[in-house]
Amino acid sequence: MEQTLSIIKPDAVKKNVTGQIISRFEQNDLRIVAMKRIQLSKAEAEGFYYVHKERPFFESLTTFMSEGPIVVMVLEGEDAIAKNRALMGATNPANAESGTIRKDFADDIERNAVHGSDSAESAAFEILYFFSGMEIR
Ligand code: ADP
Ligand code: MG
Repeated sequence: MEQTLSIIKPDAVKKNVTGQIISRFEQNDLRIVAMKRIQLSKAEAEGFYYVHKERPFFESLTTFMSEGPIVVMVLEGEDAIAKNRALMGATNPANAESGTIRKDFADDIERNAVHGSDSAESAAFEILYFFSGMEIR
């Protein structure tokens, strides 16, 4: 069993497709073991995405991620990190395979509906960024 962090980003929350996205996780044997709906401040979005701080899209990305509410989840299952990434599809929805979350719900490379941890190290950091041990059951 492995845990990963998933975020339904402001674009997808605004479209009211939270339930449709969560269904895909459950249909693929990922279990929600923690979940909350919050709105990040700009500084909180910057802290979450600090690994990208030198990238040209950092300013725009962190403005987008703080523009409205998000739904943050810890998903648990076998190979949860890789499985979630496969369900998400490519960063740019134009390159995402059919049937993936980003193909079906994302607008463009920035407003791409979901975030998922990309490694065990990032999952550990990202889960702790949002949840305390007592909130994960
Ligand atoms: P992923 O979310 O697929 O792991 P990255 O970690 O490379 O992708 O990037 C983090 C987020 O930054 C992306 O999900 C997307 O919202 C945004 N992003 C990535 N590349 C670009 C880009 N070239 N222009 C605008 N936004 C981008
Ligand atoms: Mg990433």
